[in-house]
Amino acid sequence: YDDRDGSIWLDGKLVPWREANVHILTHALHYASSVFEGERAYNGKIFKSREHSERLLFSGNELDIPIPYTVDEIEAAKYETLEASGLKNAYVRAVCWRGSGDDMGVASAKNPVRMAIAVWEWGAYYGDAKMVGAKLDISRWKRPSPETIPCFAKAAGLYMICTMAKHEAEAKGCSDAMMYDHRGYVAEATGANIFFVKDGVVHTPKPDCFLNGLTRQTVIGMLKDRGIEVVERHIMPEELDGFEQCWLTGTAAEVTPVGQIGEHTFEVGELTRSISEEYEKLVRS
Ligand code: PMP
Repeated sequence: YDDRDGSIWLDGKLVPWREANVHILTHALHYASSVFEGERAYNGKIFKSREHSERLLFSGNELDIPIPYTVDEIEAAKYETLEASGLKNAYVRAVCWRGSGDDMGVASAKNPVRMAIAVWEWGAYYGDAKMVGAKLDISRWKRPSPETIPCFAKAAGLYMICTMAKHEAEAKGCSDAMMYDHRGYVAEATGANIFFVKDGVVHTPKPDCFLNGLTRQTVIGMLKDRGIEVVERHIMPEELDGFEQCWLTGTAAEVTPVGQIGEHTFEVGELTRSISEEYEKLVRS
């Protein structure tokens, strides 16, 4: 993705895409001192833009990566980058990391905190799964406990688990993996939250050791506005068989139906379809 035309916002100004580079001895490259955001712009407007900028600052704070910009400054930088891209519908990636310092140790408190924003076109995250329902593997990798890592931050380090899970899933012909948490409860997919439907009631894992996605919160609001009961709770693996419908939510994934998780199958039902459509309408309005 480095050899392209365009501009990337780097440490306060737009630079040519190909020149937006960092040094090999960047702390983040060795020790994962990096936090980021994934956002989508629709018709030139970034959905929940401020909430994403606030989450970026929260993530930086959690990982002791003090981001030297305010929410307003981040907002201005994201829109500057989006406008420079000429794109109206795009994915927006903001990333902050610890740069190179005086030595190469684990400690990075004296290393500069750097920031970049890139914007590109990104279509349906799960391809045609949006129509037919994604097939998910069940990962052997677990979401860690809040005592192990700041698991509510959107931190690069946490994504190694996701990448390993996703590689194994793809090797088995699946689009993604569902992960259990450290206690064995159903948690989420590698870049999206998960919902289930049974007897007209929606069940979704309680976000007590993973990202409470902005899309997740939006979808819960939409369901409640319709008067549908949403239960946030711990979900056991053996319950999967009893659910009728399943979908994933995420900025990139939007609302994607799930057709299969391991041996368990789900119908792409009426509620899944209509929530997916309502989300599409909302983000574009
Ligand atoms: N969980 C993980 C691991 C993710 O990467 C994402 C995408 N940011 C989500 C959940 C969903 O979060 P959001 O709806 O805020 O994009």
